Amino acid sequence: MPELPEVETIARELRVRLIGRTITGAEIRWARSIATPSPAEFEQRVIGRTVQAVGRRGKFLLLHLSGGATLLVHLRMSGQLLLAPRLSPSEKHVRVVLTLDDGSTLRFQDQRKFGRMWLVRDPQVVLGRLGPEPLAEDFTLDVFVRLIERRSGMLKPLLLNQSFLAGLGNIYADEALFRARLHPRRKANSLNEDEIARLYRAIRQVLGEAISGRGTTFDGVYRRVNGDSGGFQESLLVYGRTGEPCRECGTSIERIVLGGRGTHFCPHCQPAP
Ligand SMILES: [Zn+2]
Repeated sequence: MPELPEVETIARELRVRLIGRTITGAEIRWARSIATPSPAEFEQRVIGRTVQAVGRRGKFLLLHLSGGATLLVHLRMSGQLLLAPRLSPSEKHVRVVLTLDDGSTLRFQDQRKFGRMWLVRDPQVVLGRLGPEPLAEDFTLDVFVRLIERRSGMLKPLLLNQSFLAGLGNIYADEALFRARLHPRRKANSLNEDEIARLYRAIRQVLGEAISGRGTTFDGVYRRVNGDSGGFQESLLVYGRTGEPCRECGTSIERIVLGGRGTHFCPHCQPAP
């Protein structure tokens, strides 16, 4: 599932290509991909608008359109946003196609159909109560300390909680906890000052490095807008490496299920609480 670095990569790539382009056509092939408004109203309201800015908040992509509308996209499990000169008829799982005034198409492919698009005036209605952006300048260590020290839950589910911190998913939560040498079952309010600082740095480092690597393609889900894979999968230290030797100490990486999610860690580098 695409997380902050993957959505940020898509946003950066779309920004170069989409700003100034006007949407000239919309075709909805799977009605439920459009969360709001109705598919007919979506088509009618999106056509003729020009892309003015491309942003990201957590795992949401935001296309700010002329006339005070915002198109939000959440890729969820398997969504992909691809820019292509024209639609090749062989493509499967295409749910929404937007045609642009330069003849290119932005298409939303989504094999598992959990991805959603919203066309709204106020993005906040969709974004709701998202936690802070981990890479924002004002997300300081002090802010993180105040957030985490009043939480009593286990670290792994907490890092996945989008109202605690926006943008982390299963891959980068596991990678950040490994880098911070913290067991995923540790309780948030059991961390000392040094451990909180380690986790803060690990989260920001792994996200920054993954953006530089253009994201992680695992199980073929995430694609850049030209269809290429990301590059960060080569740099994963624990995620998807069950049974393989830890790159730090050689111990076999273990997998447990926490809060319903597969969780990867090194039992030596990340001692159990
Ligand atoms: Zn280890």
